[in-house]
Amino acid sequence: MSDIAPSTIAFEGHFAREFPELAVPWRAEEAPDPRLLLVNEPLAVELGFDPGFLRSPEGLRLLIGNALPEDATPVAQGYSGHQFGFYSPRLGDGRALLLGEIAGADGKFRDIHLKGSGRTPFARNGDGRAAVGPMLREYIVSESMHALHIPTTRSLAVVATGRSVQRETVLPGAVLTRVAGSHIRVGSFQYARASNDIELLRRLADHAIERHHPSSSTEVNPYLALLKGVIAVQARLVAQWMLVGFVHGVMNTDNMTVSGETIDYGPCAFMDGFDPVAVYSSIDEQGRYAYRNQPVVAEWNLARFAESLAPLIHDDEEQAVALAVEALGGFRQQYSAAWFAGMRAKLGLPEGMDDAVASPLVDDLLKLVQEARADYTSFFRNLGKAARGNAEPVRGVLLDLPAFDDWLERWRARNPDADAMDRVNPVYIPRNHLVEEALAAATNGDIGPTAELLEALSSPYVERPGLDRFADPAPESFGPYRTFCGT
Ligand code: AMP
Ligand code: MG
Repeated sequence: MSDIAPSTIAFEGHFAREFPELAVPWRAEEAPDPRLLLVNEPLAVELGFDPGFLRSPEGLRLLIGNALPEDATPVAQGYSGHQFGFYSPRLGDGRALLLGEIAGADGKFRDIHLKGSGRTPFARNGDGRAAVGPMLREYIVSESMHALHIPTTRSLAVVATGRSVQRETVLPGAVLTRVAGSHIRVGSFQYARASNDIELLRRLADHAIERHHPSSSTEVNPYLALLKGVIAVQARLVAQWMLVGFVHGVMNTDNMTVSGETIDYGPCAFMDGFDPVAVYSSIDEQGRYAYRNQPVVAEWNLARFAESLAPLIHDDEEQAVALAVEALGGFRQQYSAAWFAGMRAKLGLPEGMDDAVASPLVDDLLKLVQEARADYTSFFRNLGKAARGNAEPVRGVLLDLPAFDDWLERWRARNPDADAMDRVNPVYIPRNHLVEEALAAATNGDIGPTAELLEALSSPYVERPGLDRFADPAPESFGPYRTFCGT
């Protein structure tokens, strides 16, 4: 446990100071009866907080922004965004606050941020609040993503406020304390661009370069390099989502970071049965953000980012467009390479294997999995058993067995590495039925199931006795599954 006194932790106010145009000084709403639901002790220690202090009444008040160090400068950040393809010039933190940045042991700054901390000038018709369920959901899924080695914002704590929140029913309110590389979004650049203040745009780009893409600063065209850097991290990120069957659900440009971290877990879900057109969000009626559309949407969002950066990329508009288009062309290639490398690893095939051999093995298998709508996560985990000689768990969930047996023979001839497969095919993901069960219990005052689920998810690749329940697919009776934005 860290023995650093909490008072020595400095909240830097870099963003607040440097970007008054994008940051409205604001205070969190006072919580009448704060109660700690979860605190992430390892993360707290990493950040230099004493977890014991965070559990104290004073610590709780710090976690929800009600008792901040004197020099803290909390702000609501402004940003724009394309929501489901339609541009909103003014979104911003309607119910969130950036408390400030903390310097990590690695010298990198991380944002400490609140969600559900009350109305801000960006709240529009919203109440500024969040319910216990959706905040725990973000905690569970983001921490699972982290354990799966997928870049993500982290969750430090969820504190119940003691205030009720009116949704379809009356729900207990909560604040999530979130940690991120930064909260600079594609939408932040859209906002800066729309202000027509080129120097603001340049400062934001310089800040993003310094914080997330430092090698761009020494390139001949640093802003083109920034665009390429963001394309690269997003291509890799979305490939990782696809490989674990994650559906973000609301990939609006305001929910896409320039750091390459997954952000804003709303109506997200992990796919159960493999279905390329899987959509879980109740508001995504057209399936814009369906599983298989995610790479295409990411590319579309990056084009919006490129448009915002264009005046920095070149003084001449035509040349700026040509350079941006060329950079955007790299997305598909990088995405495909990352996805394919990940799939090859999921099949236990060696890195150097000829694509002409590996590619049909991947494609043919996915066809069989899709045809049977087999549970995506357990199928790949059980494929490791097939590599060890026991094909029954995978055979048992497929339909076209002659085709699969043929595939097995071709695959086994390549000596798949079962141990390597176990290191990339998780046993434990936040299964929808388990998440719902945990959130329902927590909403009724029992955090136990959430804590148990988090424990299973914290080490997703190591099968442990007694945790079968967390590895098994949803019962037949569960579904069709629908998620909500929780607003
Ligand atoms: P999200 O879908 O959570 O990424 O949010 C989209 C936008 O709506 C952001 O500008 C949020 O700050 C805002 N928003 C969402 N829920 C609320 C709420 N309950 N009160 C105020 N603003 C909200
Ligand atoms: Mg958002």
